[in-house]
Amino acid sequence: MKELISAEKISKRIKAIARKINRDYKGKQPIFIGVLNGSFILIADLVRELKVDCEIDFIKLSSYGDEKISSGEVKLLKELNCQIKGRDIVLIEDIVDTGLSVSYLRKLILKEKPASLRFVTLLYKKDICKIDFEIDYIGFEIENEFVIGYGLDFAQKYRNLKAVYVLQE
Ligand code: 5GP
Repeated sequence: MKELISAEKISKRIKAIARKINRDYKGKQPIFIGVLNGSFILIADLVRELKVDCEIDFIKLSSYGDEKISSGEVKLLKELNCQIKGRDIVLIEDIVDTGLSVSYLRKLILKEKPASLRFVTLLYKKDICKIDFEIDYIGFEIENEFVIGYGLDFAQKYRNLKAVYVLQE
């Protein structure tokens, strides 16, 4: 594996995103929704940099399994426990690849009539993502490569790595 983004760079970027969220949500009490499993490290690091009052919940979607390519199908494996209606929602993704998952989640959440909905992702594959809405807080734009570490797995391994790596053949 080859290091793509160091732990230091990730940490600096998350602090910058947290500063922006602190400004944008001053006086509000957003609900941060982490998309399992990949976002568990990002959400833990991000919320500890926040000064706004926040609530945290998790939702779980089907993963790639042991593959490196999306099946093109999204399944809900764990539902939300919180009330969305009238609340400011911030959805936290580890990576936006084709954008299928984030589009699915956007529809799901908008049905519940939140006051607002924004998206955070650590990594964004700009060249293959096909969405018609904005990702509000992006950590890093990356090329179309399969990455692991900092929450991201391959066949459930490598999530614990502190940096992000490209998994080479
Ligand atoms: P999308 O629906 O945007 O195609 O993919 C979203 C999900 O696919 C992510 O939350 C993540 O679980 C998985 N995924 C997409 N690209 C990668 C990648 O490069 N590495 C890993 N480990 N997972 C990925």
